[in-house]
Amino acid sequence: MFRSFRVRARGFLPLASILWLCAFVGASGQAQVAQIPSGPSVRVSDNWYHLEDCTIAVGRQAPSIPLAEALRRSHRACPICEPLRHRPEWAEFVKAHGETIKAEVKAKAEAEAAEAIRKKEAEEAERVRRLAELESERKKKETAPVVRLTEQETRDIAQAALAESGGDPAQFQSRFRARIRERSPDYAGPQIVHGSPLLKIMAAGPVTKFELAVMDRLQKRLPPAGAAWSPDVSISVQPESPDAPDIKQVVVQRSDALRPTGAETTATMLGSTLAPRRLPGAPVGSKAVTAGDVTFPLSAFEPGDGVIVRVIAVQAAGPNLSRTFTLMALRLIQ
Ligand SMILES: [Zn+2]
Repeated sequence: MFRSFRVRARGFLPLASILWLCAFVGASGQAQVAQIPSGPSVRVSDNWYHLEDCTIAVGRQAPSIPLAEALRRSHRACPICEPLRHRPEWAEFVKAHGETIKAEVKAKAEAEAAEAIRKKEAEEAERVRRLAELESERKKKETAPVVRLTEQETRDIAQAALAESGGDPAQFQSRFRARIRERSPDYAGPQIVHGSPLLKIMAAGPVTKFELAVMDRLQKRLPPAGAAWSPDVSISVQPESPDAPDIKQVVVQRSDALRPTGAETTATMLGSTLAPRRLPGAPVGSKAVTAGDVTFPLSAFEPGDGVIVRVIAVQAAGPNLSRTFTLMALRLIQ
């Protein structure tokens, strides 16, 4: 009863229940719980209520409960022992309170159903809210400006990492990356444009190229301070086998939310060292295959509203190899 009234206050209770509740609203204006007496004790089984000595009740060892409670559980008079015929006072009780109890049960069921709907709606609203929250966090992360480290900042970080790594290239790399990430959390080194057992094409921004240059010098036992800095992005074509496909050109196309489809701009190529080379260690007379770096301005890879950057490697024969970089992927080119 109290529960029903509480639900009504939220405006969910169906009309029938409200009418029923009104029957118990006294002059004080407060809901009163109807005083339905508990009635005689009856035995219950099989959704029936029985006389004390009904053979079914005895056979089932049916428990005894008040008649009002049996009616609340929607039990009916047993058709075998016919309790209402044999006990006129039971019939009187059902006549006096049966309908009220029925209405009470119905209102309770409806209130519970309404409460279940309300709960489901609240859960759905919460789910939608959480999704929106995640989406806004993602957006915030995607649209925050990428931290671009200067040459001096990068050299200082490399020097600190070198001091911690005792000249070991792998140690240097892990220390360098950890320190860069303290400033620019998305930093992850070179990014794959194309990867197959025959050919790798990687994208590397200024910090990545510097990291690779220092490691290269460490491996060659050259002073790491001599590593060169370049402010651009290199697309590096690295064949792994003389059978690798020949790449004759690398093109970078950029589009954004403001441009219609097909209106991409093509980034200016700043330089290229692409040339046929014999792979190191390959037998004399083996086929030369195109390798080298093609450089583009970092601005061509700067993330922005709806920005899509396609890096396309054009093969001498065969379809283009390409990768499309969008928001989060573009942020990794550093
Ligand atoms: Zn019976």
